[in-house]
Amino acid sequence: MDYYSILGITKSATATEIKSSYKKLAKKYHPDVNKEPDAQEKFKEISRAYQILSDPEKKKAYDQMGHSNFEQARKQGFGGSNQGFGGAYNVNFDDLFGGGFRDPFDIFSELFGGGGFSGRGRNNRQKRGEDIEVVAKLTFEEAVFGAEKELSYKAFDKCTTCKGTGSADDKAEDTTCSQCHGQGQVQQESSFLGARFAQIVTCPQCQGRGKIVKNPCKTCNGTGRERTHLTTKVKTPAGVDNGMQMRIPGKGNIGEFGSNAGDLYAVFKVEDHKYFTRHGSNLYLDVPITIPQAVLGDTIEVPTLEGKKNVKIPKGTNHRQQIKLSNLGVTQVNSRSRGDLILNIDLKLPEKLSAEEQKLYTKLKEVESKPKSILNKLFA
Ligand SMILES: [Zn+2]
Ligand SMILES: [Zn+2]
Repeated sequence: MDYYSILGITKSATATEIKSSYKKLAKKYHPDVNKEPDAQEKFKEISRAYQILSDPEKKKAYDQMGHSNFEQARKQGFGGSNQGFGGAYNVNFDDLFGGGFRDPFDIFSELFGGGGFSGRGRNNRQKRGEDIEVVAKLTFEEAVFGAEKELSYKAFDKCTTCKGTGSADDKAEDTTCSQCHGQGQVQQESSFLGARFAQIVTCPQCQGRGKIVKNPCKTCNGTGRERTHLTTKVKTPAGVDNGMQMRIPGKGNIGEFGSNAGDLYAVFKVEDHKYFTRHGSNLYLDVPITIPQAVLGDTIEVPTLEGKKNVKIPKGTNHRQQIKLSNLGVTQVNSRSRGDLILNIDLKLPEKLSAEEQKLYTKLKEVESKPKSILNKLFA
């Protein structure tokens, strides 16, 4: 899909239309709001489309190149010499796209009015740390009811030797970066299909810090961070399912020189249940019943999420018939609505007959014999 289709607009859309369409979609698919498994991917897609179409220069290049050429160039990074473009492009796509994906926090604050994310200064030009994904294993019950879990994972944290400064010597002053003169940003000229444009990018020499460490710390090579083992406590909402993700802000890798940490994404892996099978918010349970129970009806005890419950099996219940117990399924994530518990009737034939049963079944056969026989009807 091209970027216009992703945003649900046409090529003639105005800047205002592009923006409003993006905002509408981003709100719908923001990972903080939408817990569908593919929402995050969709959100990234929307954000990428908007990054390009909202920037007149990028939009111009995109319109000129066409979607597939542009995407191909983007994937090849534009950085290399030729890549099939005869060296015409010397644009570094990472600079153009800020690493391919804009900080979701900015979008979040823009969309939802900001606030609540203190300590994440927008003016901070230093790159924040990377996001991390960790698999969070849950039992069936933990997924259904929500749980407090301690996630344990490897991540970059502040270097303990230099306390995040990156410097081996407490007293040594950092020197001002010679390339950006302490600004953290430099202007870069790029040409794109002949169109030249200037761009402000993060200074490659100091990574936006504006300063250079004089005497780098040996433990962290002057980066101010080291890989370590972290644990984070999370409260998972009720109703999560396999493959769903939860974002834990600021618990990913810390950035270099103590700059903001990325986010941690817990990806849920849920254990199977002994009896219940789950499909979305509905639960399924196989319930074995006998021939007399099926024919005459009965009241049986079945397990539910809230303990055992008596359920009436109506007279004449057939094999594979389903009995729905409304609102006894799983609560949907971020919603009050609940699925159902569906009983799958599993009619069991007796494997062995006692002498008395043998007698009764024989008697039954005689009683219902000739005129009512199904076979007789079929072949009459
Ligand atoms: Zn260090
Ligand atoms: Zn610099």
